[in-house]
Amino acid sequence: MNETTLVYVALGSNLEDSHAHLDAAIAYLDSHEAMHSVRESPRYITDPMGPQDQPDFLNSVCSFQTTLEAHELLDVLQALEIERGRVRPTDEAAIAALRWHARTLDCDVLLFGQTEIKSERLTVPHIGIAERAFVLQPLCDLSPQLQIPGLGPVANLLSAVDSSGIRPARG
Ligand code: ATP
Ligand code: MG
Ligand code: MG
Repeated sequence: MNETTLVYVALGSNLEDSHAHLDAAIAYLDSHEAMHSVRESPRYITDPMGPQDQPDFLNSVCSFQTTLEAHELLDVLQALEIERGRVRPTDEAAIAALRWHARTLDCDVLLFGQTEIKSERLTVPHIGIAERAFVLQPLCDLSPQLQIPGLGPVANLLSAVDSSGIRPARG
């Protein structure tokens, strides 16, 4: 068997039936031949970041083992976003304009093992990880002892951010 890497992916949705979009994302990852041992954190309803004229988000974090390389994983996640109806433009200006806007599904690579990556398409650990309670809380729920490369224990990062904008979702 090929070597596997433990990865953490942030899921977010604030359009249509967000629970259904997250359910579909988890089911897809679970069924993918290059991934196994998929776990999902509890889900949170969260205030939107950036533009405020959009619905609240539903957020969670999932973890799994994968035989994929990091950029292959990003390709799979972006295809999944499109499959769930995400509109993703191809030119840089339009991508920047739509950042943090309403979407059916957002899948961001938070951690890829303990590897640090900086390429044109991928920054890992995810660039916003240390500032986002809606990422740190579910990450800490899944793996309370987790160490974030270059940033330290997830629990310390969580205690340093304002968590007032996140609330447990139903179920
Ligand atoms: P943010 O990344 O701040 O949460 P966003 O998720 O709204 O914003 P997207 O529009 O989903 O941003 O992605 C913009 C670009 O970010 C993508 O084209 C992708 O190449 C790049 N990117 C860089 N690092 C990552 C990462 N760790 N996970 C996902 N995409 C990343
Ligand atoms: Mg994002
Ligand atoms: Mg994204």
